[in-house]
Amino acid sequence: MITEKTPIGEIMKRAYENGILIPAFNVAYLPMIKPIVDTLKRMHTFALVEVARPDVERFGAKSFQSVAEEYHKLADRNFSRLHLDHVPVIDEEGKRVDWKSLIKMGLDLEYDSVMIDGSRLPLEENIAVTREVVELAHRFGRPVEAELGAVFGHESGPLPPYEELFRSGKGFTDPQEAERFVKETKVDWLSIAIGNVHGAISGVAKDKKKVSARLNIKHLKRISQKVGIPLVLHGGSGIKREYVLEAIKNGISKMNIGTSIRQAYERSLSEKPDDIERAQENVALEVERLIKEYEVEGSWERL
Ligand SMILES: [Zn+2]
Repeated sequence: MITEKTPIGEIMKRAYENGILIPAFNVAYLPMIKPIVDTLKRMHTFALVEVARPDVERFGAKSFQSVAEEYHKLADRNFSRLHLDHVPVIDEEGKRVDWKSLIKMGLDLEYDSVMIDGSRLPLEENIAVTREVVELAHRFGRPVEAELGAVFGHESGPLPPYEELFRSGKGFTDPQEAERFVKETKVDWLSIAIGNVHGAISGVAKDKKKVSARLNIKHLKRISQKVGIPLVLHGGSGIKREYVLEAIKNGISKMNIGTSIRQAYERSLSEKPDDIERAQENVALEVERLIKEYEVEGSWERL
């Protein structure tokens, strides 16, 4: 059973070996932290609480420091850890990012794990950057997530037609490359593209319902056999349930969920502005629904 002291690397390994999902909830607004951690505790479910640059810069997560402070104030760490999501080397607008200071900041602020996203780089450079982050984070005893392949959706332009994307396998993670990537970087967890897409974070699309994504499970199996480490699915909101359950059996141990809980919060506030408590209740309801949907209620006892 998990205690406050169990390292997240160890917990994720158990999840991988036992086919249990660790959901990772993105905090788009600071008041979302409370309903997330309270619901996890009430439902004996283990999950990650995470935050990424768009949550801070485009929505209301304020800063990485405020998220860390609020999390450490409110969370019962039997049921969660704090993860720094998506530190990009090149961001969604094509700009270079000072990833090294962001990673260092995350480690200093006691994020339990970090993600470096070099997926917009050529393979060699993605390997070099990821390896550097792994060396740094491992000195602090923190695991690293990296990304290989293209999880579309965060870019500001329109998403290519989904069915076309899925059929062509455009941007899917290549199993051979994944094998080499993991061997050379010693990364702990790998985010892959197998049909999943990110929720939109800009324009009118950010308020719309996401496409109902599918997953290529055969492709997932090929990657999983090659790498043998916990795999991560970004863009969890809107993926059909049967695909997610099948993916968990085949190596997906962490799934990021942002859009659906952010929209639950925003929708509530647009109906009743200033009623933060009601918005928090709506986030709690959505987290509860997701926990049931992905069969992770009581996962704390099984991990
Ligand atoms: Zn992502």
